[in-house]
Amino acid sequence: MERKDAWNKYGDNAKKKVFSFAEDYREFISKCKTERECVKEAVVLARKAGFIDLNGAIAKKTKLKAGDKVYAVNKGKAIALFTIGKDSIEEGMNILGAHIDSPRLDIKQNPLYEDTGLAFLDTHYYGGIKKYQWVTLPMAIHGLVSLKNGKNVEITIGEDMSDPVVGVSDLLIHLASKQMEKKGSTVVEGEALNVLVGSMPIKKKADAKKADKANDGADSKDMAMREAVKAKVLAILKKKYNIEEEDFLSAELCVVPAGPARDYGIDQSMIMGYGHDDKVCAYPSLIAQLEVKAPKRTSVCILVDKEEIGSVGATGMHSKFFENTCAEVIALLGSYSDLALRRALSNSNMLSSDVSAAYDPNYPSVSEKNNSAYFGGGLVFNKYTGARGKSGSNDASAEYLAAVRKVMDDADVAFQTSELGKVDAGGGGTIAYILGNYGMNVVDSGVAVQNMHAPYEVISKVDLYEAYKGYVAFLKNAKKLD
Ligand code: MN
Ligand code: MN
Repeated sequence: MERKDAWNKYGDNAKKKVFSFAEDYREFISKCKTERECVKEAVVLARKAGFIDLNGAIAKKTKLKAGDKVYAVNKGKAIALFTIGKDSIEEGMNILGAHIDSPRLDIKQNPLYEDTGLAFLDTHYYGGIKKYQWVTLPMAIHGLVSLKNGKNVEITIGEDMSDPVVGVSDLLIHLASKQMEKKGSTVVEGEALNVLVGSMPIKKKADAKKADKANDGADSKDMAMREAVKAKVLAILKKKYNIEEEDFLSAELCVVPAGPARDYGIDQSMIMGYGHDDKVCAYPSLIAQLEVKAPKRTSVCILVDKEEIGSVGATGMHSKFFENTCAEVIALLGSYSDLALRRALSNSNMLSSDVSAAYDPNYPSVSEKNNSAYFGGGLVFNKYTGARGKSGSNDASAEYLAAVRKVMDDADVAFQTSELGKVDAGGGGTIAYILGNYGMNVVDSGVAVQNMHAPYEVISKVDLYEAYKGYVAFLKNAKKLD
């Protein structure tokens, strides 16, 4: 089957739209590297587009009607947005879903230590990574420290050009003869992903020296050697953020690649950046949701956390948050019943969007050319994902795929179909099957990515644009299937 290159659809003028959408996206992922940052920005954009907070509407017993727009945030890490349709919600919704967490290094609960005059933060990596890719790079710290008084201290270090960056070291090639013989999975071990954050000892004040002597009898020169570099880091954190070492116990700090995403390729047709998985689907889903006014069917966008570690927990797709939020919306529509909720969910259509593996000519052996996703091929649909005989996959029905194909073709959206690699080359899962449990129609879709789960991933700008156009068309035109 021939599929056209999406770039050929656009003349010079139309290409400007492709590039300007990509530029907005590039800025979004440069600013929003964690799920919390994505939710915060999504709320800003939603409010600008006229969405109101569902909790406020519940408190005021606001009646919802067609055309109304509400959003609900789940613990600052997931968000659901609804635009009420003209049809009864029991007829089902058109839902876009994507995840906003990305692989990274999370700082441990008791992280700060000193070794031979260097201060480190100990980490536990989050999501599936090739650990050796995460060393010798400029890294930033994003997150927050939650204090006992209930206040949160937000921390971002490494993004402003005047900020320092941090990072993880690697062994010099001159001494790496043993390391180079190791298997890729152990070249860099998880416990070696320690982030270097300081090397300068604190200057002890005279009275502090006296106290040292009084406390444990150690001489002040020993004390100056012992943990003085760690003490300096703590002193800086105290001064800048007013936090203590104990406060790390209730912190969520993530180490991510520092700096903005960049245009990629001499022709600037691609973007290289951190976290395309899955912001390259989350962002166009969000923008499509914000743009679709007064739809026939209620349109929904859900952006969730924890996909990279199994969609578990209170903020992952497995949580009851989405179901509960649907119940609240139906209640404000004045028609809540358990049956109405079940019907609304089971009559829904969903595009579960997550990144696909882009065919990479440097590594042809893992792909089967006729069923791979290509840069420039447009929005990707995966009928199924899974591994070893489709295990764990939501296998979308032929009837639903036919309906989705029609929506895409009618709106002139370039799309392609794909599997994640050759049969038995590996595999992966998404959030699709979790929504499939409600009996709704779900198909995996998304954007092709090179270097998936590496610190810097790559996408094609035209694929991003086709995804956005496809999502708009889906929200407007996907119909209830019999
Ligand atoms: Mn993903
Ligand atoms: Mn992933």
